[in-house]
Amino acid sequence: MRQEWDIIIAGGGSAGLAAALPSARGGARTLLIERQTKLGGMGTNALVHTFCGLFHPDTSLPWAWLNPGIPQEIGEAMMKQTQQTEPDLMGRVYVLRQHPSLFASIADDLCAAETQLTRQSGSEWTGLRQMANGWQVEVISRGVTQSHFSKSVIDTTGDATGARWLSPSLWTMAPPEKLYRPAYVCALPKVTGEHGEGWRLALGALIVKGIRSKALPETAMGAAFRDSTFAEEMFMTMDLEAGQGQWDPFDPTKRADLEASGRLTAISVWRYLREHHADFHNCPPPQFPVQAGIRETARYVGDETLTGEDLAANRRFENEIALAGWPMEKRENARGPKFRYFDQPQPAGIPAGCLKNSQYPGLFFAGRCLSADHDALASVRVMGTCMATGQAAAQMALTL
Ligand SMILES: Cc1cc2nc3c(=O)[nH]c(=O)nc-3n(C[C@H](O)[C@H](O)[C@H](O)COP(=O)(O)OP(=O)(O)OC[C@H]3O[C@@H](n4cnc5c(N)ncnc54)[C@H](O)[C@@H]3O)c2cc1C
Repeated sequence: MRQEWDIIIAGGGSAGLAAALPSARGGARTLLIERQTKLGGMGTNALVHTFCGLFHPDTSLPWAWLNPGIPQEIGEAMMKQTQQTEPDLMGRVYVLRQHPSLFASIADDLCAAETQLTRQSGSEWTGLRQMANGWQVEVISRGVTQSHFSKSVIDTTGDATGARWLSPSLWTMAPPEKLYRPAYVCALPKVTGEHGEGWRLALGALIVKGIRSKALPETAMGAAFRDSTFAEEMFMTMDLEAGQGQWDPFDPTKRADLEASGRLTAISVWRYLREHHADFHNCPPPQFPVQAGIRETARYVGDETLTGEDLAANRRFENEIALAGWPMEKRENARGPKFRYFDQPQPAGIPAGCLKNSQYPGLFFAGRCLSADHDALASVRVMGTCMATGQAAAQMALTL
């Protein structure tokens, strides 16, 4: 099978979806390749359930969308479907609760409306080759090998997949002990009661008691609970050390161990809470995610690299293509996040050079594998910002 396209987007997470829509709307014959069966990436398959980075960071003002276009369109669709009229104010930030199943269905609806867009799910991007007039993209789709050709490719796999085939100088990755920790998120239905701050603290104390008495594994420490947008459903998130200095997100054995450890912890916590907490008495077994949540792997090295200092100083660029507004949320261990806020409650710019490398014309990258340092990634990896950079990558590809 051999097919020609104008723009191929590899990876259908927040960034890939946000790239595919403007690409197709701009008239480009667009192919969106996704390994899983649902679009939405971590926001669907890993059950990440809040959109961060969608709003202006000044919470002394009424909430306002930060990046127009697709991020706002997806945010508004989610608000409508979950019947939220405004985002939640959590401390110093606005966030929008999102439901992973609804995100998948919003993505389906938005894509289905685009006649220039072809989606391939269950399809693994397996190769990339630079040609005289563009790119050759190899895909294995349900056992069938395909070759696709296009003028532009946008890598939104989150893993800098294309860079790892092209050149060691085109990508970078933090050392294992610094990589933002993976986490396991699952959904718990039929949790009754009111879940305020006091409830959460008491629940945390109960879990610590369970760990001390060896009824729960150490990995249950720091399990965090958040109400879904639907009654009696909660999400439970457990950050996992994953071997800390030994963690390698590209090692399939370590990934399998991570998934198993997440499931094991989730089931132990569920059993323990069912027995020891009245609000969980009727809770059926947790709904597992398709995959554990991966916060950080490899990033591209582009013409420009956004730094944590750029963000902290609210730096703006003449060639900026999107705005970042989420604080740097560093999660280098499983003991919770360390936040570094921007100096002013104002956004910072993301320059165009973070989405391309001039040595590889027609290749763009967006989402959590854009060109940023480890500190900046702690901010720009959130879904609202990934949507904004995905959209911008498509706009750049359209003007090529
Ligand atoms: C536990 C956890 C909690 C988080 N909390 C929040 C939060 O509260 N709010 C927030 O906004 N963000 C949060 N984030 C961050 C956010 O979810 C991710 O950084 C964001 O989803 C990245 O979007 P992306 O599109 O760049 O990548 P991803 O969402 O990772 O999507 C990449 C897509 O590419 C596909 N893919 C990869 N390789 C291939 C291949 N070879 N072939 C085909 N397809 C491929 C994947 O299947 C996936 O669908 C969290 C992340 C984690 C892990």
